[in-house]
Amino acid sequence: MIEVTQFRNQTVAVLGLARSGLAAATALKRGGAKVVAWDDSLSQRNEAAHAGFDLADLAADLGGATALVLSPGIPHTFPKPHPAAARAKAAGVPIIGDIELLALAQKAARFAGITGTNGKSTTTALTSHILAESRRKVAVGGNLGVPALLLEALGADGIYVLELSSYQLELTHSLVLDVAVLLNITADHLDRHGGMNGYVAAKQRLFRGQSARHTAVVGIDDDICRGIFMALKGADRQRTIPISAHRPAKGGVYVTNGDLIDDLDGAARPVLAMVEAPRLPGAHNGQNAAAAYAAARALGCEPEAAARAIKSFPGLAHRQEWIATIDGIRYVNDSKATNADAAEKALVCYDDIYWIVGGRPKEDGIDALAPLFPRIRRAFLIGEAADRFARSLDGRVAYEISVTLDAAVAAARHAALNDRRRGAVVLLSPACASFDQFRDFEDRGDRFRRLVEQLPGRRA
Ligand code: ADP
Repeated sequence: MIEVTQFRNQTVAVLGLARSGLAAATALKRGGAKVVAWDDSLSQRNEAAHAGFDLADLAADLGGATALVLSPGIPHTFPKPHPAAARAKAAGVPIIGDIELLALAQKAARFAGITGTNGKSTTTALTSHILAESRRKVAVGGNLGVPALLLEALGADGIYVLELSSYQLELTHSLVLDVAVLLNITADHLDRHGGMNGYVAAKQRLFRGQSARHTAVVGIDDDICRGIFMALKGADRQRTIPISAHRPAKGGVYVTNGDLIDDLDGAARPVLAMVEAPRLPGAHNGQNAAAAYAAARALGCEPEAAARAIKSFPGLAHRQEWIATIDGIRYVNDSKATNADAAEKALVCYDDIYWIVGGRPKEDGIDALAPLFPRIRRAFLIGEAADRFARSLDGRVAYEISVTLDAAVAAARHAALNDRRRGAVVLLSPACASFDQFRDFEDRGDRFRRLVEQLPGRRA
C-alpha cells in the first residue's frame, strides 16, 4: 500500500468511498493527513465509519480541506457537478483523484499510462506482462484491477503500468508519463465530457508535461487519434511512436498480413505472427499488441523478450474469453464489450454466431453493426435494450427476446444444437452496459460462465 505524505497535518476531503476512495483515504491517513470522508450511499458511509474515518456531508461543508479527492465515477463538470465538487471549485480547492496521489507519493518511479476508448485493460495487462517477463519491477493497476493506492510502493527502479480512464485523467494534474499510450478514440461517455471535444481533450491530458525523455505511443487507425499523432509529431516535444493494426506505420510498430512488425529503427522487422498469440484474437488485439510492444520497447525491453511475452500472455477474463466447447459449440464470454464498437471486434472473429446481446444501451445502439448481421444465426435479446435492438434487427436477423441472461444461454444452446453448424459460437458480447441487471460487467460475465459450466453435454 502507498503512503501519501504530501498532505501531512492538512485536512483532505474524500468523496466516494468504494474501493479506490477507501484506499485513498487510508493512504492519506497513514501519511499523516486528517481525512473527512463522504459517500452519498449509506452503506459505503457505514463501511468507512467502521474503518475509523470521520464522516461529513461534503456537499454542505468541505471542513477546511486543502484538496478534494474524488472517485472517478463522480461527475465534477458534466452532465452536472456533484454539489461537493461545485463547492470545491467555487472555493478554489483542487479536485484530484487517486492517480494524482500515487504520482505525488511515488515521484522517483517510472510511469506508463494507457488510455483509449477500447483495449485499455488488455494493453495494460499485456504491457505489464511483457515488463514482468523481462524481469522489470512492475505494478499494474488503476482503472483495471487493483486501485492505484493499494499497489506496492516501488521506488526508483519500479514501473507503474496504469490503465487510465478519461475520468481519471481529468483528476490527474502533476503526473508526467514516461510512456503514454493512446490506443483509439470513438464516441463513448460523451454525457460526462460535454460532447466529443471534451472527451478528446480529457484523453489528450495523457501527454501533458512530456518532454524529450518521454514517449507517446499513439494509434493511427482512427481519424481523431491520427490527428493527435500528427500534432504531437509536429510539436516534437517527446518521442512519438505510431502504431497500427492494419497498415505500415513508419518508425512505429504495426501488424500487416498477420505479422507484428517492429519499424522503430526503420528496419521493418517481423517479430511475431499474431496467430502465435492465441489469447489475443482479432485485428483489434493486433493494435493492443503493437501498443504494448512499443511501450515495453520504450521502457528498455528487448525485441525477442517482448515477442516471447506476447505469445505467453494468458489473456483477460470477459474479453472474448473462451469458457467451454460443449457438443461442438463454443461458448465465449465477451461481457466487457459494453458498446457496439467493442462488440464488433468479437463479431468479426466468428462466422456462425448465436449472439446474446443487450443490457443498458449506449446512445449509438447496434445499427452500426449491420454489416456483420449476416454472421449472426440468431440473436437473444436481454435487458433494457431488448425492444430497441429488436427494431434494429427486425427483418435482418432472426431474434427472440430472452429478457434474462439465464434464459438467453438456454435458448442459444438450444438453437445452436438444432442448427448443427460446425464452428457455432454462443457469444455473449452485449454492446451495452450491464447495470440494468448486474452489478457490473464482471458480474455479468461471471454469471455467463457459471451458466455455461452447468450446461449438460460432451465437453471438448
Ligand atoms: P477497455 O479496458 O478499454 O474497456 P478491454 O481491453 O477491456 O478495453 O477490451 C474491451 C473490449 O473492447 C474487448 O472485449 C474487445 O471487444 C474490444 N477491444 C479490445 N481492444 C480493442 C481495440 N484495440 N480496438 C477496439 N476494440 C477493442
